[in-house]
Amino acid sequence: MPAVAPAEALGLEPEEWSSRLEAWALPRYRGQQVFRALHQERLEVWSDLRQLPLDARERLAADFPLHRPRIARRIASADGTIRYLLSLADGEQIEAVYLPDEVFDAAGAPLRRRTTFCISSQAGCAVNCQFCMTATLGLRRSLTAGEIVAQVLCLLGEHGLCPGRGLDRVNLVFMGMGEPFLNYDNVVRAIRVLTRPEGAALAPRRITVSTAGIVEKIRRWGREEFPRGRPNLAISLNASSDEQRQRLMPLHRGQGGLEALLAAARELPLGPREYVTFEYVLLAGVNDQLGDADRVLARLGGLRAKVNLIAWNAGGSLPFAAPERESVLAFQRRLIAGGIATYIRRPRGRDIYAACGQLAKS
Ligand code: SF4
Repeated sequence: MPAVAPAEALGLEPEEWSSRLEAWALPRYRGQQVFRALHQERLEVWSDLRQLPLDARERLAADFPLHRPRIARRIASADGTIRYLLSLADGEQIEAVYLPDEVFDAAGAPLRRRTTFCISSQAGCAVNCQFCMTATLGLRRSLTAGEIVAQVLCLLGEHGLCPGRGLDRVNLVFMGMGEPFLNYDNVVRAIRVLTRPEGAALAPRRITVSTAGIVEKIRRWGREEFPRGRPNLAISLNASSDEQRQRLMPLHRGQGGLEALLAAARELPLGPREYVTFEYVLLAGVNDQLGDADRVLARLGGLRAKVNLIAWNAGGSLPFAAPERESVLAFQRRLIAGGIATYIRRPRGRDIYAACGQLAKS
């Protein structure tokens, strides 16, 4: 089990609570009570946990201060997307995005409602992808597991979603601020906590972790044990050659190139209907040509892969341009003709700068 920061109330699993409380001469079942109260009943202050003896509550208050993030700002888009600025206990700020979605049948009747939360794993980011606004912030710090969990519980509460009940339609994507694999232990721990049936009970198959492509961590992810199922992994590819990727994503340097990246992707264990997902941000005149599509096809040959195309979302003063609709479609057609399932990601919240790569705390 990855290490946890001391006094991280929301980052502990029920068994860990049981062990800690047992050391205070309390029965083990108290661990489940504490976990449920924190995650399903949204306990704000330990004194409200009246099932526990007073001295235990006092000790918990002293040893495990409860910090929930505060919503500092909400910005709503015309398409229903809401961008949140959240303040953490030390005053650091992160962003998260709520993306509601109606799914319609062929006749246009609403079939079901789907909710996606895009969350942050770090405040800022050290990776410096050249097309991303978050990169302009640099890394301020990584979030603890408890802070990641608290972020999710805060968003669920904001939208009236009850942890543990009916959350099987809630998607969680680690695509906000930060590179999740540079905060690997805390992200894995947060996922384990958030998928516990006694807690938020999120479905692992509805969680996606997106990485800029840290080869050694992709391998580790493939070996990681997730008792309730492995969440999805999306690898940001964004280029068709080493030279191009190095220019767009400086982190590419020194990792063994596309060959090593794709070799690690090939090692990921896949279920019968699973694919390795690649994200590809299209930048006009940079990586959106048909020659790029052909090189991507050649690289992905033999891999059970799926590609999500994202037309770049304009961000501040970054020196790129959004691709023409026709080049996005042509790129998609070329990949599909080559046998790769390819989807175009619908831009969301562009008017409020909440779309992919636009989160920068403004
Ligand atoms: S795209 Fe992701 S990994 Fe790259 S700089 Fe932005 S937040 Fe960091």
